[in-house]
Amino acid sequence: MGGVTISQVATAAYEIPTETPEADGTLAWDTTNLVVATVTAADLTGMGFSYASPAGANLIDGRLAAALTGRDPMNIPALHEAMSRAVRNDGRPGIAATAISAVDIALWDLKARRLDLPLATLLGQAHREVPIYGSGGFTTYDDQQTVDQLEHWTGELAIPRVKIKVGESWGSDPTRDLARVRLARRVIGDNADLFVDANGAYTAKQAIRFAHQMVEGYRVTWFEEPVSSDDHAGLRHVRDMVDCDVTAGEYGYQPSYFATLIAEETVDCVQIDVTRVGGITAWLAVAHLAAAHNLQVSGHCAPNLHAHVAGSVANLRHVEYFWDHERIENRYFDGALTPRGGSLIPSDTPGHGLTFKATDAEERRVA
Ligand SMILES: [Mg+2]
Repeated sequence: MGGVTISQVATAAYEIPTETPEADGTLAWDTTNLVVATVTAADLTGMGFSYASPAGANLIDGRLAAALTGRDPMNIPALHEAMSRAVRNDGRPGIAATAISAVDIALWDLKARRLDLPLATLLGQAHREVPIYGSGGFTTYDDQQTVDQLEHWTGELAIPRVKIKVGESWGSDPTRDLARVRLARRVIGDNADLFVDANGAYTAKQAIRFAHQMVEGYRVTWFEEPVSSDDHAGLRHVRDMVDCDVTAGEYGYQPSYFATLIAEETVDCVQIDVTRVGGITAWLAVAHLAAAHNLQVSGHCAPNLHAHVAGSVANLRHVEYFWDHERIENRYFDGALTPRGGSLIPSDTPGHGLTFKATDAEERRVA
């Protein structure tokens, strides 16, 4: 394999409308942004992506391409470090981290393809099957939309775990929140796990009161971002006072973020997003940090990317099968996985097995 160097780093960005307007406790949206990165060495190309601002494409075309071109594509630790150093003055957390994530994933895909191995085999598997949970349940939905989506997951796809959004309008409508949790429990029956995500909408005391009602009335076992994930004291307070698990981590753009989150004992399960934290290289670092603290991890969003990396750590709990990304990955990528018995099983294809359908997405291209 000697002598081969990276000849090209390329990117494109897309803006894809949601099916209907969507909102959680603290944000509303009607489009999803997708940044795709490719890395080419000799006759092979690896591909990665992030659900992130199109501004990241500018960094990929500029600084990250300059940091990688001409180098050995197999030495991912060195390449990852070079990318992190290159964006120092741009601010590594945030948009730069999403750009690094997309390129790091492309590097891992390229490496696996060069070795003619499935990415899951290259990483090594702790779990052959990766449990997922259906995730969506937006606050903009009426009851019928909520019912249809929940039945899609628990019925059609046989996924025994689901999550809905709560904390509507910054926690100002707790009556409707509780009614929607009641509806969800009724639809999914007694045998599925019910999770909620407030996206930081509540105050700590509000979250504690709500948690008691949800646990006692509807057996909710997972309460994500009950308060802002920037409020570590608040997270820890809620965690100390409730029976369900308290979780966070989706805004972690570098491993050091998680060092603090974990050290301050804020969460029962650490959520890590491979498209934000710095790709597969950084996702693994955080998962191992969590393992050293006897914590499990959960992959946040981008299910078809997490299927490979998440199965490689023993302390995996599950991966989020997020509605917007389920739609986009099935529509714009060949090789998207179909859930079986509540899990994703990585394919035997070399790399991550996904091929981006650029021609189909061209009408959505913005950069
Ligand atoms: Mg969340």
